[in-house]
Amino acid sequence: MKIGIMGGTFDPIHIGHLLLGEFAFEEFKLDEIWFLPNGNPPHKDTEDMDTSLTHRIEMVKAAISGSPHFKLSMHEAKKGISYTYRTMRDFHELYPGNEFYFILGADSLFSIEQWKYFKEIFPTCTILAAMRDDKDVRDMQKQIAYLKKKYEAEIELLRAPLLEISSTTIRERAAKGLTVHYFVPDAVADYIKEHHLYKEVEQ
Ligand code: ATP
Ligand code: MG
Repeated sequence: MKIGIMGGTFDPIHIGHLLLGEFAFEEFKLDEIWFLPNGNPPHKDTEDMDTSLTHRIEMVKAAISGSPHFKLSMHEAKKGISYTYRTMRDFHELYPGNEFYFILGADSLFSIEQWKYFKEIFPTCTILAAMRDDKDVRDMQKQIAYLKKKYEAEIELLRAPLLEISSTTIRERAAKGLTVHYFVPDAVADYIKEHHLYKEVEQ
């Protein structure tokens, strides 16, 4: 199988994440997309600084429930801190015989060299990188070519609609009492409302 991995904090999951998954699924003929929420770092000073892990996971579940090819992976959620290369190695061990595609946005592609053990990621998967913010096709192609050459990485440009949406914007809107409808699936907007999430956001 060809499996796409969409890692993130998902605080909350939004249509940017979902469309990336959908376009990766279509363009690269993947069989499944696994949404992989990261855990809460163990050393947070105040517990309520971050939305609890349970909320983040419930929102992912609500967002993907209508798509049979979208799955939730709890692999990183169980741990405080995870390194992507370790997760990918675990996946190869746990689910042998599959090809993995790691999906990310431009901000991640441009900061990947600052990730711990980032070089170890490249042999484990093909990276599918989508445009985001002010990075255009040329910037992306340049960065992809640079990383490919320097690290023998496999990276492809993922063409998807450019959406100026982030979880940060959504948290800020919710904190101000503005609607988050249409930024997130209805079920997620309902969940945020019902659980009074992001009422106070550190900005
Ligand atoms: P935050 O504002 O809290 O950082 P976020 O919207 O960036 O949230 P993350 O959970 O940090 O969401 O992102 C997970 C992955 O999804 C990252 O690789 C990020 O680049 C990508 N991503 C998120 N939103 C978009 C978007 N609108 N367009 C392209 N990529 C995106
Ligand atoms: Mg982010």
